[in-house]
Amino acid sequence: MSAATLPNAATHSFRLTEEQEQLRREIRSFAAKEIAPHVMEWDEASEFPSAVVKQLGRMGLLGMLIPDELGGAGLGYVDYMMAIEEISAVDGSVGIIMAAHNSLGMNHIYLAGNAEQHRRYIPKLATGEWLAAWGLTEPGSGSDAAGARTTAVRKGDRWVLNGSKTFITNGAHADVSVVIAVTDKTQGTHGLSAFIVEKGMPGFRPGKKENKLGLRASDTSELILEDCEVPAENLLGKEGEGFVDSLRILDGGRISIAALALGIARGAYDAARKYVKQRRQFGKAIAEFQGIQWKLADMATQLDAARLLTLRAAAIKDAGKTTTSESAMAKLFASEAAVRICDEAVQLHGGYGFIKDYPVEKFYRDVKLCTIGEGTSEIQRMVIARELLKRP
Ligand SMILES: Cc1cc2nc3c(=O)[nH]c(=O)nc-3n(C[C@H](O)[C@H](O)[C@H](O)COP(=O)(O)OP(=O)(O)OC[C@H]3O[C@@H](n4cnc5c(N)ncnc54)[C@H](O)[C@@H]3O)c2cc1C
Repeated sequence: MSAATLPNAATHSFRLTEEQEQLRREIRSFAAKEIAPHVMEWDEASEFPSAVVKQLGRMGLLGMLIPDELGGAGLGYVDYMMAIEEISAVDGSVGIIMAAHNSLGMNHIYLAGNAEQHRRYIPKLATGEWLAAWGLTEPGSGSDAAGARTTAVRKGDRWVLNGSKTFITNGAHADVSVVIAVTDKTQGTHGLSAFIVEKGMPGFRPGKKENKLGLRASDTSELILEDCEVPAENLLGKEGEGFVDSLRILDGGRISIAALALGIARGAYDAARKYVKQRRQFGKAIAEFQGIQWKLADMATQLDAARLLTLRAAAIKDAGKTTTSESAMAKLFASEAAVRICDEAVQLHGGYGFIKDYPVEKFYRDVKLCTIGEGTSEIQRMVIARELLKRP
């Protein structure tokens, strides 16, 4: 990756450190050895890569944002986005498994949880012994997530949850899920609360596993709660603040989806760059045609612009500042650019781009989720506009 700076480089350096470059090399070599040979087999069978997920845990990649004392790697968002990019350049399915675990499920427990919840859950999650999921979306409420219908009613020392969550990444494989439910429907966005629900708790089970266009080796499942009794101490954060906390979680999560898009697009771009140098038509390599060169130039420029926006959001997050609009801009631009880049990568392969023997076919399918998950492009534009209009 080329080092780059922004005008306010005095506060945010965009140069990776030697440690970060070393980590990048390690992850790249791991992905090439342990993931690349299995990508199509997992994709076709929709097979969750359990063994690789355990290996990610051993490498510290499932506790990246968690401090050492809680069993994590004590790294920041710049390291995290770089890790997701490297993994997703080989397989976006593994990238989204990491993202849902690190920046959604586990991060919600880390950011909103109390000391006892940290002690109980974080070390096991950060080392990859346990996997996390995060359940906000419901069949009737996606973009309008505050319109959730799942309820939680306090009964003595327990909360009783009823409802269902849909499209939950890691849903059927997670040991621990964070679930958002309505605790007081008169309070609007301040009437939802978050709960930690463990696998095997009575009344809690995964439902339908989705059969998807892309990211097929990742698990996207329904979560069903039927009179599910959760101990009172599993309320996560303050009662009524679950939705507001979720928005904070999404500020970080959107950086991971931007990085997922970046990785998938880079995988597609690299494959296309290699292919156009090899493929010959009209007596020469197609890379010699200016029409092809301009496509590559546009792809590379969009990729760098997406990376810079994502790095900016990650660096500001690491500086402890709010990144609502920076995260939304990175996610919006990176995901839409990545869709265009993967489309061009297929085009540059001609008919071979439509065939499963070449990797761009899968990148093209996988990348589409990036303009949808953790808020669609339309919702990112709403978030950005709201932030812009707040400014004096
Ligand atoms: C593979 C996958 C993994 C996922 N993982 C998770 C997960 O781990 N946890 C979780 O909670 N959720 C998850 N989701 C859900 C995802 O976040 C939602 O699908 C997404 O937020 C969109 O919601 P929806 O599907 O209900 O679409 P809708 O909200 O029904 O949107 C339909 C269309 O209407 C547009 N639209 C809606 N409102 C407006 C508006 N006000 N102005 C303009 N346009 C609008 C949308 O942009 C979209 O184009 C996942 C989804 C998928 C597909």
